[in-house]
Amino acid sequence: MADRSAIEWTEATWNPTTGCDRVSAGCDHCYALTLAKRLKAMGAAKYQQDGNERTSGPGFGLTLHPDSLDLPRRWRAPRLVFVNSMSDLFHARVPRDFVRQVFAVMAETPQHTYQILTKRARRLRLLAPELPWPPNVWMGVSVEDTTTLNRIDDLRGTGAQVKFLSCEPLLGRLTGIDLTGIDWVIGGGESGPGHRRLDPDWVRHLRDECLAADVSFFFKQWGGRTPKAGGRTIDGRTWDQRPDTQHQADPVKTVASL
Ligand code: SF4
Repeated sequence: MADRSAIEWTEATWNPTTGCDRVSAGCDHCYALTLAKRLKAMGAAKYQQDGNERTSGPGFGLTLHPDSLDLPRRWRAPRLVFVNSMSDLFHARVPRDFVRQVFAVMAETPQHTYQILTKRARRLRLLAPELPWPPNVWMGVSVEDTTTLNRIDDLRGTGAQVKFLSCEPLLGRLTGIDLTGIDWVIGGGESGPGHRRLDPDWVRHLRDECLAADVSFFFKQWGGRTPKAGGRTIDGRTWDQRPDTQHQADPVKTVASL
């Protein structure tokens, strides 16, 4: 999973699969799709398979990388790891057994904390009973507008011990959002050419829903021409809350492992 903005809340990325296909409006300016095209042109080995030109793009065909599976085992120091920044682990073409292998690595490396984000919430829910859900795996779904609120029910239906929502790019007011059982919400706007405008009312509503439900809230950016163009304060303050866990990672230090 990826979005247009820089990943500010993770320390490392791990991509046992790369490539994807667009599934909803939140994918329109997929950061990973654009980056994959550049990586292919640079000759990066993991980005040589093209995807469908309508839903994907050059270098962004869904590809498994079994040789990347063991990477976290080699990281001695604890890291906060964003899994599949360049893909969606629950894409229909990622075999169940491969998903199980990714989860096995996470379960066997408890020194790391893993964040997985998907837009394929149905498949997540379908596979969830077959997967281990150790406390170091944080599972999230993207929720960009009210048409995607049902993804939250699918997330609730999993055994994940830390459940989070990525509401970015936020594309509408999330009227009716139910945060029962959710630990953390990340909100934010879109940046770059063609970015879609973020209405302050949508953001205040999301913040207030988090406050009412006692859910941690992290506001990443308003968006604009660049990620920093609009700043990241809401009514004069920043929101940097994290799930109520012991992990206190530096939110801006990113180790890329594309
Ligand atoms: S699901 Fe995520 S990685 Fe896949 S196209 Fe959409 S934004 Fe990009």
